[in-house]
Amino acid sequence: MRTQVFVLGLGPAGASAAAEAARRGAQVLAVDRKREAGRPVQCAEFVPALVGTDVDNLAGSVRQGIRGMMTFVEDDAPDVQRDFPGQMLDRAAFDAALAARAEQAGAQCRLGVSIRRISPAGRAELSDGTAVEAEVIVGADGPRSLAGRAIGQINTALVETRQLTVPLRMPHQATDIFLSAEIPGGYGWLFPKGAVANLGAGVDPAHKAQLKRIVEQLHAALTESGRVGGEVLGLTGGLIPVGGMLQPQGLLGDRLVLLAGDAAGLTHPISGAGIAAAVHSGRLAGQAAAGWIAGDRAAGADYQDELESVFKVALERAVRRRVELGRAHASGARPGKPALRRGWIAYPEYWAA
Ligand SMILES: Cc1cc2nc3c(=O)[nH]c(=O)nc-3n(C[C@H](O)[C@H](O)[C@H](O)COP(=O)(O)OP(=O)(O)OC[C@H]3O[C@@H](n4cnc5c(N)ncnc54)[C@H](O)[C@@H]3O)c2cc1C
Repeated sequence: MRTQVFVLGLGPAGASAAAEAARRGAQVLAVDRKREAGRPVQCAEFVPALVGTDVDNLAGSVRQGIRGMMTFVEDDAPDVQRDFPGQMLDRAAFDAALAARAEQAGAQCRLGVSIRRISPAGRAELSDGTAVEAEVIVGADGPRSLAGRAIGQINTALVETRQLTVPLRMPHQATDIFLSAEIPGGYGWLFPKGAVANLGAGVDPAHKAQLKRIVEQLHAALTESGRVGGEVLGLTGGLIPVGGMLQPQGLLGDRLVLLAGDAAGLTHPISGAGIAAAVHSGRLAGQAAAGWIAGDRAAGADYQDELESVFKVALERAVRRRVELGRAHASGARPGKPALRRGWIAYPEYWAA
């Protein structure tokens, strides 16, 4: 099968890329191994207010507003940041709406099909036996991107996560963050979503064996304090790339490969937030793909420049903070509260030189 633009993955990055390239007149095929766009959900579903500038009305998928952030450092009383606006999404509805927009724009979207392999010449082999040849490949296939692997751009630093959906006993309008030396390489969270909440934690993969216990303990403590119910209504998890930005473009033969979202390492290495970056980079990738099809040979390099101008400084700072915290853990000494604060975006220490 031949197409101009082949998009791997129909998450926020892939759906945004497919929609943008199709809107600009390119012939687009996008595939995802999920049978239903957005399901299963592997996300805590918070987006900062600014994401609305990329997606009108957030595709009708907002479930509740968020006003602030409460950060709990070890057993201290929480530090409250009142001005941290955002929204809690229904991520399945959000992804499904973005995929529907891509189809409306003219992209051909196929669900329930896996990409098995990308050859060194850029030919993609799919699980249904089809082989796809495209002028541009957009790798929006998440943290372990096959497109990224094909051009030697691999997310090596990752965080492992585990998340429960639990009943929320009292309404809440903040994202709660739990920082502790007992959660190495990550943090715990409680994000409210109406009558339920997403309660989870992420850790460095070396500590994956402790993740279940960490989440159980957080759940038990929050149940005891009366904030959440003891029932577990859902369980999910997944990988978050935390090594910072990869080189988001390359060539396979004469085909342009563009990476977007998690595949490009755009997830914030400290907060793990990646939805907004996925949508934004996806749109830019779709634009670059259409530009390449129209004969613009600088489209790949321009895409990289644009991503660097938007994301590089913030991602580099976050990587530095991760490395500092990682050193504290590796030395065997538990990071103290000052080190934990310096490693979290809510504190001025994080933003200091
Ligand atoms: C537990 C958890 C909580 C998170 N919480 C938040 C949060 O609150 N806020 C936030 O902003 N970010 C959060 N993130 C990160 C966020 O989910 C990602 O950054 C975001 O989904 C990236 O979008 P994407 O389109 O790049 O990748 P994805 O959403 O991962 O989409 C990639 C798509 O590619 C498909 N795919 C992959 N490989 C193949 C293949 N071989 N064949 C076919 N299809 C394939 C997948 O099925 C998937 O649909 C969280 C992540 C996790 C794991």
